[in-house]
Amino acid sequence: MPRGKGAASALSEGGGRMATKGKRRPSRLDEAAAAEIFRRLAAERPDPRSELNYADPFTLLVAVVLSAQATDVSVNKATRTLFRAADTPQKMLALGEARLKDHIKTIGLFNTKARNVIALSRILVEEHGGVVPRDRAALEALPGVGRKTANVVLNVAFGVPTIAVDTHIFRVGNRTGLAPGPTPLAVEEGLERIVPPQFRLGAHHWLILHGRYVCTARKPACDRCAISDLCTFDGKTGDVGAKGPPAAARKVDAPGAATAAPRRRR
Ligand code: SF4
Repeated sequence: MPRGKGAASALSEGGGRMATKGKRRPSRLDEAAAAEIFRRLAAERPDPRSELNYADPFTLLVAVVLSAQATDVSVNKATRTLFRAADTPQKMLALGEARLKDHIKTIGLFNTKARNVIALSRILVEEHGGVVPRDRAALEALPGVGRKTANVVLNVAFGVPTIAVDTHIFRVGNRTGLAPGPTPLAVEEGLERIVPPQFRLGAHHWLILHGRYVCTARKPACDRCAISDLCTFDGKTGDVGAKGPPAAARKVDAPGAATAAPRRRR
C-alpha cells in the first residue's frame, strides 16, 4: 500500500485551525446514503489500520506526535531505532532530549517534537504512573497533544469510536457532503452525528485512506471511486463529473418530505 502523510499530521494541533470553533453545517446526505457510503468503504478495506508502526499506547502516542507535518514512512524509519532504545516513558527520559534528537533529526520540526516527547514522558511518569491515560482531557494536557492526536490515541489504542479529523477527513467530509463544515471540529461533530454506530470505530481509518488514495486533494479519482454516485461534490473528475450525484443520494430537506433510499453502485 502506498504511503502518505501521517494520519494525524496535516492540520495543526493546539493553536492551529483544529482549535478554531466553526459552525457545523447540516449533512447533504441522508442517513441511508451515509450508511451506504461506509458499507462500501468498509467492503473495500475490511481491516483498516494505522500506517504508523507502534507496539502499545505509549509508542503510538509518540509516533502520532512525531507524525505532525511528516510522512508515516519517515516516522516509521525514525521510530525503528528510537523504540529499540526507548519504548517506555521511563526509558525516554533516560535517553534524554539530545539523544532523542539524534533518532528523529530526519523528521520536520524535530527540535520541538523532541522537547514535547521528553516533557510528555515526564508527565506520564510523574502523574500517570508511566501509563498513557484513556482520557481525553488528560491526553490533551500533554505537550504536543491536541484534540486530533488525542482522538487517534483514543481510537487506535483504546478502541474509543472517535474521529480524528486530519486534512484528508476534512476534505472528504466536505466534498462528499457527509459533514460539511469550515473547521475540523465542525466536520468532526458532523461526522459524529451522521456515521452509523456500527461504523464509528473504523470511520476514522476509512475516511483517511479514502482521502489519501482516492479522493486526493489535487485530482480526486472520481472515476474509480466506490461512492461517486452518492458523493455530492460538484467538481468530480472523469465521466462521473458531468453527471453529478443522483437526486436519491441527496438529503431531502423539505419538512415532511420522504427521503429516498440511496442507489446502489453503478
Ligand atoms: S466522487 Fe470524487 S470527490 Fe466524491 S468522494 Fe469520490 S473521489 Fe472524492
